[in-house]
Amino acid sequence: MEIRETLKKVQFDRQDLVNMLSATGEDRNLLYEHAAKIRQEHVGSKVYFRGLIEFSNICSKNCYYCGIRKGNRSVARYNLDDAEILEAARFSYENNYGSVVIQGGEIASPAFTTRIERLCREIKKLSDNSLGITLSLGEQSRETYARWMNAGAHRYLLRIESSNRELFRKIHPEDEHHDFDTRYECLRTLQELGYQAGTGVMIGLPYQSIDHLAGDLLFMQDFDVDMVGMGPYIEHPDTPLYAHRDILLPIRERFDLALNMIAVLRILMKDINIAAATALQAIDPMGREKAVRTGANIIMPNVTPGLFRNDYALYENKPCADEDPDQCTGCLDARMQLADAEIGYGEWGDSVHYTKRRERIPSPGKKQQ
Ligand code: SAH
Ligand code: SF4
Repeated sequence: MEIRETLKKVQFDRQDLVNMLSATGEDRNLLYEHAAKIRQEHVGSKVYFRGLIEFSNICSKNCYYCGIRKGNRSVARYNLDDAEILEAARFSYENNYGSVVIQGGEIASPAFTTRIERLCREIKKLSDNSLGITLSLGEQSRETYARWMNAGAHRYLLRIESSNRELFRKIHPEDEHHDFDTRYECLRTLQELGYQAGTGVMIGLPYQSIDHLAGDLLFMQDFDVDMVGMGPYIEHPDTPLYAHRDILLPIRERFDLALNMIAVLRILMKDINIAAATALQAIDPMGREKAVRTGANIIMPNVTPGLFRNDYALYENKPCADEDPDQCTGCLDARMQLADAEIGYGEWGDSVHYTKRRERIPSPGKKQQ
């Protein structure tokens, strides 16, 4: 079917998604134009900032793709102290970012739970209760997620990485710490607790097909996620998956495929929040702007103190690793103007989808903004 015909549809089956994801040349332009129009109609032209604090690269897991996996002996491990984390949060508050994302390696321990709980409370306090808090700290118990929510966190990012069980297995060690069902259940728990639940996948993984990616989009729709962060897979030399680099798509094609994924997701889930992943910028200096043009509406400027950014290398060529967060703000302002977007300064920028979902199914015990 011609792409023009597919774009006119209101419901899309798996084959429609595969067709759209495969678009190149003029078809790709039509796809992007359509996605941009839908973005404008359903979530408007605003882009919201989340100050990204990569607070520690210490991780108990061994995902085959990730540069900070436990088994990588050649990475210098760091753990920001509370004052440094709060300073980065204050920077985000003073620069009107609206929200912060606290991301790091996965640790599950009572001390870790208590520390994050305390930090959430402190961040709320220093920002007069106004900074939104997104956590991205991997798989945790229901009790831990609930405690963090009570302490002020209201969004959580947990990528499913691939919704295809076989592919998930191939990119993770085969043990109880890297289990598809556990990850899935965690995502469900987050949603049940009332978090804005976000997921995502890596695009261009070895052994991944367009059909897998279509399946990922259907998974997100089925799960009814509020937000998605997804970007290209970028190989890291100190990881097991690096051995499979010969079968990867060329990096530029992975980039284009990631933009196609963003555009098709916007067409499929019109009112969710979609983040322009930093990995896009690692490939193309204008990567995030291009993502905003094709449907993304969230940007996560890195506010981690510069000294530590090089050590949070999930993949190669991480952008802006030696930049000062101060310089980032001005730079992003200009960049968003280039992408014809407007920055929603000082706003939480909750997903429209979440607000509508909550109106349908009110969940007990969660305060609204
Ligand atoms: N430990 C937490 C959060 C930090 S990792 C977690 O795993 O959920 C955040 C994301 O980085 C992961 O979900 C993964 O999708 C992405 N990532 C890791 N290695 C990557 C690579 N080599 N290329 C692209 N993205 C990668
Ligand atoms: Fe740890 Fe997350 Fe990297 Fe997996 S992807 S090794 S959980 S930091």
